Amino acid sequence: MMTDQETVQRSAALGKISPTYGYYRQPNGWVKPAVVTELEELGYRREGWMPLPQYGRFDMGTGYAADHPLELLFINGGAKELCEEQIRQQGLYMNPPLLPSCRQALTQIHRRHIPACWVGAQKTVFPQVATMTGLGPFPCRFCGVAKPTVQARNQHEGVVHKEEKSDIRTGETLADGLIRGLRPGVPAPSADVNAALLKRIEELEAQMAAKVAQKGPTSPKVVASLARARAARAAKKASPVTLSAPQ
Ligand SMILES: [Zn+2]
Ligand SMILES: [Zn+2]
Repeated sequence: MMTDQETVQRSAALGKISPTYGYYRQPNGWVKPAVVTELEELGYRREGWMPLPQYGRFDMGTGYAADHPLELLFINGGAKELCEEQIRQQGLYMNPPLLPSCRQALTQIHRRHIPACWVGAQKTVFPQVATMTGLGPFPCRFCGVAKPTVQARNQHEGVVHKEEKSDIRTGETLADGLIRGLRPGVPAPSADVNAALLKRIEELEAQMAAKVAQKGPTSPKVVASLARARAARAAKKASPVTLSAPQ
């Protein structure tokens, strides 16, 4: 590993501009990359940021660097500097970043990692994770994409699946789910669960009927799936064998 000073000296010796990015710890405990030139550092210090020069300097000039802003920190053993909240919020506990085995900063000397850099690459280890609780991943209930926190999951669902969420409120997804549950070959739920589910469905259907009567059907799909659910339930009620299945 090259120290911060060595990187600067070597860059100067080669007549190159020394890298300008390094790391700071913000007052909230998060570690962030930012410009570390003297003037900038002074400004950040005034805001309460603590420079972490021991983790080196790099150039932010590539898309790769922007996508992997903490790579040099991790290469130089700084994973331990992150607070638990940063590890949690950024999902670093789910997908620890892979570190190139070249262990080099991205600078004018080593502009980008080449395939050889990735031979024997290892995942970053966060010792903090061992004692962290309430970790996910929390999969999206619509598409399954894993999110690091419940908050992030809910936000994703609210933005990406806005329409489906609204369909749930109208009962469509629930009705479709019931149809799927009643398919042949799917084990029947216990009588208790079944009864509770039927009661809930009937409540939702009543709500739907009221809504439809009030302002007309929201979509033909909703009406069709409710009709299918009603038909499937009637068929199931007629068959005591499936309803009385144990467990
Ligand atoms: Zn490399
Ligand atoms: Zn999703």
